[in-house]
Amino acid sequence: MTNALPTRRLGLYPGSFDPITHGHLDLIDRALALFDDLLIAVADNPAKTPLFSAAERQAMIAESLSLLKANDVPARVEIVNFHGLVADLAVERGAVSIIRGLRAVSDFEYEFQIALTNRSLAPTVETVFLMPNARYTFLSSAIMKDVAAHGGNVSRFVPPAVHAKLAERFPAYARTLGSHGVSGPPTDDPRL
Ligand code: ADP
Repeated sequence: MTNALPTRRLGLYPGSFDPITHGHLDLIDRALALFDDLLIAVADNPAKTPLFSAAERQAMIAESLSLLKANDVPARVEIVNFHGLVADLAVERGAVSIIRGLRAVSDFEYEFQIALTNRSLAPTVETVFLMPNARYTFLSSAIMKDVAAHGGNVSRFVPPAVHAKLAERFPAYARTLGSHGVSGPPTDDPRL
């Protein structure tokens, strides 16, 4: 019998998070039910011309972690910026899995290609796909930015730290918040 300490299983959740939405947060909660620890890796890829800098995206995620239901979140979640290959980061940090989200069939082809590429680069790291609560399946950062840029109220779909930043960035959105206020996360209201 060896006295080896039990190994903590680390999941790696990479993405642009430009910005984080309640869909991403839902996935983080699900990942924390499966893994001991979670590394959230914010892609620093200027080619994607993100709306928010990597540091801003990281800060919005950090501020939103208090909304999670999982236990002991500050001790179990780490947020980093990264550029380069997700597979390299996974191996370097000893992650057992890469976590990605599947919203609809439209995500599948792209995610399938990435997962198989990552498997060839890092055969020991298994990609795990998680599905969000059905109420978040239509949420994407791109649509949130587009709606907010035109003054639509997205406050029920993004954490408070994000709609504050959207209001800073888009005057039309700040005006909307001024007139309608802020809504909480989506409810079970069947009309929504
Ligand atoms: P990327 O540019 O790497 O696709 P995103 O931030 O858009 O980065 O997404 C990161 C991961 O989170 C992807 O696997 C994406 O499918 C998933 N994701 C994004 N939004 C949602 C959502 N509403 N529900 C479930 N998964 C999501």
